Amino acid sequence: MVTQGSLTVFMGPMSSGKSRDLISVYLNELQSKEEGRPYKDVILVKNATDTRAPTIHTRDSRTKNLQPDLQYLSADEVREFTKKFNPSQHILLIDEYQFPTEGDIAGLLDSLATSGFEIYVSTLQTSFNGMAFSEHVKDIFSYADRVVSFKATCSNCENDYGVRTMRTNNEGTPDQFDADVVNVGFDNYNPVCRKDHLVPGRPLHQFHQNLKENGRGSLKVISGPASSAKSDILKSYLVKFSGREPVSYYTSPPDISTLSRSSSVVLIDNYHKLNSDTQEYAMFLDHMATKGYFVVVAGDPLTAKNLPTPSLRELLPLADDISIESAYEKISGERMAATKTIQVNGSLKPVSRYTYLGLINPFQGGGPQ
Ligand SMILES: [Zn+2]
Repeated sequence: MVTQGSLTVFMGPMSSGKSRDLISVYLNELQSKEEGRPYKDVILVKNATDTRAPTIHTRDSRTKNLQPDLQYLSADEVREFTKKFNPSQHILLIDEYQFPTEGDIAGLLDSLATSGFEIYVSTLQTSFNGMAFSEHVKDIFSYADRVVSFKATCSNCENDYGVRTMRTNNEGTPDQFDADVVNVGFDNYNPVCRKDHLVPGRPLHQFHQNLKENGRGSLKVISGPASSAKSDILKSYLVKFSGREPVSYYTSPPDISTLSRSSSVVLIDNYHKLNSDTQEYAMFLDHMATKGYFVVVAGDPLTAKNLPTPSLRELLPLADDISIESAYEKISGERMAATKTIQVNGSLKPVSRYTYLGLINPFQGGGPQ
């Protein structure tokens, strides 16, 4: 049987259950082992920045105060540590991925997944100020084979669409936009929905005032390699909403100034073709979602050199939902999920990690030479 490694990301605000699901991966393997079924050994890895919680939180008695196998501050420490293990027989679990890390940790995890490890990462997407938590948080979604989006209960209005984390200071007022991102002092963190997320001093785009107030909106990204079904899925939203709601559909990102403000559903294909003002554009779509627009974007998350596409890289951490559409490749009669894109004779071709491994040195990172 042909097998390949994978990278799964559990994303969401605090208290959304992502660490619980990370631990359930561990418990499932433990149970298989106990019952004499095939299992993989699990390696627990945690960022060392959060010194308040050196163990991994869990309510299950078997894993209470679970000690990580490695606490790291740099990608090099993770690289050295994982060299000791056989990739095809191990699962790598990474908690608190969002915290500061030296080196290209996203690129390393992508390489380790290609080398055969089954990897699960749990991460916050945004910090208290609504921006991507860190640069390596921006990168990880582009490399993922699967993303699971978690929502919390909003601590203010109690709806089940808590996608942001609000931080209040000792006086009970929300922290300013430009306060330090990593602050393990006495601040209070609470999950909130988009409408209840208050960030005093957050800059607004010059066109923001033209947005109308709708009900509850969201930002969804459908990403995938060349020849995946992402554009067809985007079009299915066009069919679904046409005649029911005002819909604007774009085959590639238009200039922000001409993007429809009057449609409540905005669909944009080929988002990877946007290559300037990528952060500004991402913040604008994010703001549309907060105002109540239903925004869905499709695009390729990686270039043929295996680098995150600049536009998707800015947008993915701000999304409420990410679905990754694989293409497929047949190897020895088996249908393998393909999430990488390579260039062959001038055209783009989706390949599995299994094929991709034959084209690169996984411990060097980057794309085919
Ligand atoms: Zn709320």
